[in-house]
Amino acid sequence: MPGTILFDLFHTLLDGADAQRDRVVARMGEIVGVDPVALVLAYHVSWRDRLVRWSAEETIRLLARRLGGDPSPEQVTRAAALRLELASWLLNSAPAGTLVALDGLRAAGWRLGLVSNATAEVAEAWPSSGLSRRFDAAVFSCVAGVAKPDPGIYQAAASALGVAPQQCVFVGDGADGELAGAAAVGLTVVRTAEFVDRSGVWSGPVVGSLAELADLLGDASVGRDVASAA
Ligand SMILES: [Mg+2]
Repeated sequence: MPGTILFDLFHTLLDGADAQRDRVVARMGEIVGVDPVALVLAYHVSWRDRLVRWSAEETIRLLARRLGGDPSPEQVTRAAALRLELASWLLNSAPAGTLVALDGLRAAGWRLGLVSNATAEVAEAWPSSGLSRRFDAAVFSCVAGVAKPDPGIYQAAASALGVAPQQCVFVGDGADGELAGAAAVGLTVVRTAEFVDRSGVWSGPVVGSLAELADLLGDASVGRDVASAA
């Protein structure tokens, strides 16, 4: 019997686009008048703060100042807008196969949730994306104030859907310890290798694409685990 599936976002539903992110941040460095290469590095090393604390504008203002810059409010706004533009583009770049798979799961009766370690502009862009209408709930670390693998973020998503974590399947690529984190709070875990194959982080069930998920959940023991917990 279909239940609830919680999905990771980047490298699970769509590509992480790491190179594009770096290019956008370098352009932001030019806008706010700091060394673009240094700003890209500053973004990389500040990812934990960006996931749970800072808005897009706070981030560029703080990091530019750390690098000796003093951007005007107009420069900060213009630079932050590039991050929002990137987030909107990314959220609308999910492969057709992902959308078909999500629609198929919904049609079969599965309820879908999103649990994403993401920065503020991704949460801001989410409601107007084509992905968002396919989900019954979405929890972003930047809004929840906790990031995977903290138990609180999985519990928040399950709670938003009115189920216990033990009644949910979690599907993710395995970054940030998210698979072990999900298992620790009782979710049934499936790893996806569609965008990146982190075969070393999880020895349980794996799919090569989301198109394989329905069959796995229907036939394999992972589906029975969830059905028996529901
Ligand atoms: Mg991911």
